[in-house]
Amino acid sequence: DFCGLQLHADDAFARLGAYFSVRVRPRPLPEPRMVAVSPQAATLLDWPQQLLQQPEFLALVAGQAVFEGIEPLAMVYAGHQFGGYTPQLGDGRGQLLAQLRNSKGELWDLHLKGAGLTPFSRDGDGCAVLRSSIREFMASEHLAALGIRTTRALAVVDSDMPVRRELTETAATLLRLARSHVRFGHFEYFYYTRQYEQLHQLMDYVLEQHYPECQTAENPMQAMFAAISQRTAELLAGWQAYGFCHGVMNTDNMSIVGETLDYGPFAFLERYQPGYVCNSSDIGGRYAFNRQEEMAEWNLTALGQTFTGRVELDALRETLAQFEPLQSGFYLRLMRARLGLVGGEAGDQALIERLLRILQTAELDYNGFFRQLSDADDVEQLLPLAASCVVPADLEQWLQDWWARAMPAGSDNHSRQQAMQAVNPLYVLRNSLIQEAIEAAHRQDYQPVQKLHQVMSQPFVARPGFERYARPTAPERQGWPLSC
Ligand code: AMP
Ligand code: MG
Ligand code: MG
Repeated sequence: DFCGLQLHADDAFARLGAYFSVRVRPRPLPEPRMVAVSPQAATLLDWPQQLLQQPEFLALVAGQAVFEGIEPLAMVYAGHQFGGYTPQLGDGRGQLLAQLRNSKGELWDLHLKGAGLTPFSRDGDGCAVLRSSIREFMASEHLAALGIRTTRALAVVDSDMPVRRELTETAATLLRLARSHVRFGHFEYFYYTRQYEQLHQLMDYVLEQHYPECQTAENPMQAMFAAISQRTAELLAGWQAYGFCHGVMNTDNMSIVGETLDYGPFAFLERYQPGYVCNSSDIGGRYAFNRQEEMAEWNLTALGQTFTGRVELDALRETLAQFEPLQSGFYLRLMRARLGLVGGEAGDQALIERLLRILQTAELDYNGFFRQLSDADDVEQLLPLAASCVVPADLEQWLQDWWARAMPAGSDNHSRQQAMQAVNPLYVLRNSLIQEAIEAAHRQDYQPVQKLHQVMSQPFVARPGFERYARPTAPERQGWPLSC
């Protein structure tokens, strides 16, 4: 029972036993202040919006209270970080507060990020700062609204507790929701410590909880690896189509259910810069925007290694070989939708590639461009866009070709506009916008965070009074890489 609500707890992960996690207890934040809540995320748990206003909920997010009868735990995992293997990581500042089932029977993990020290904190302080908590809150809810699979965020809480980073900041917490917090790195931990019994136990857990449809396959583990690869391919297609740069695609940040996980120095592309690196500590550009698919495949290969005891090597290789074509297929489908290209035609791929080459030099806003196409009443309306860009002739020709393909004789422009507006956001979560909201939050003015959350959680719908959120970032504020 929580705020008078009957909860359906299922301690499925805790039941795996003591090799998988350690019992912990959140460090309470003193005098917490609610920064923002997500009613949309609450509906995933069938929680009414009013619950988010209750003092019991604030106490939960602030780590002052836990669910009655449920012990929080920290999970152990490992991971390849920037290509090198770290044998033990684990929840160093997050705690799994509970696993709950909703009315559909879906299992949801409630994870408190910034919950204090755990046995896996290594030399960290177990804290999360307000800045990164707001960034994760906003991005989770925005990607979900864009239709990209992601962990979700229920709430962010702020406090006056100082935290030392480059500057002194304040301690915050984020209550995160995920279908699973199992990472590729969980499998690697048990594989490389040769705890094969536990590895198999974990595989069976993931199969049962998250890939039940694979249970009837001839080799369920082979089918599960293929399904994980497919989910990852879908995820990457979403990131690439919408210009999302994750920034830290280490295997410990790769979700076994294919959700965007662990938001750090992420960025949406402003202009189309394929080589963009959003993480200032990524000196080699390992996780550059245009390397994300390759890195996802690299991560799947690392995961595949841990399946070698239960799946034939050839089958694993076959799945990995399918990743790129699968991902490209999903990407093509998304880009067709973004361009309003109904029914696949042979020239579509070339049309898309031509556009990307033009955008790379045209210095136009990437996501904004798709919205402009969506809104256009006719192609003439778009021509000034070409005229004022760096490659006017190329873009004008492309616009004419696109219009001919998207609007064959007899088609209705209004339906095209509607279909395209439903997949091309008017509001994009640009770092400059989050930064403004963060600066206000540092002055304990949380309204800009809440306002930004409002638009970014419904990014396709124009809202009067929110015009400035739809504008591209000023050139002098674009492209600053962030640290983790
Ligand atoms: P991340 O870069 O957030 O994916 O974190 C990588 C690893 O470092 C994970 O095991 C985290 O739990 C841990 N970690 C990150 N920040 C902290 C912190 N402030 N205190 C303790 N552990 C941390
Ligand atoms: Mg992480
Ligand atoms: Mg590709």
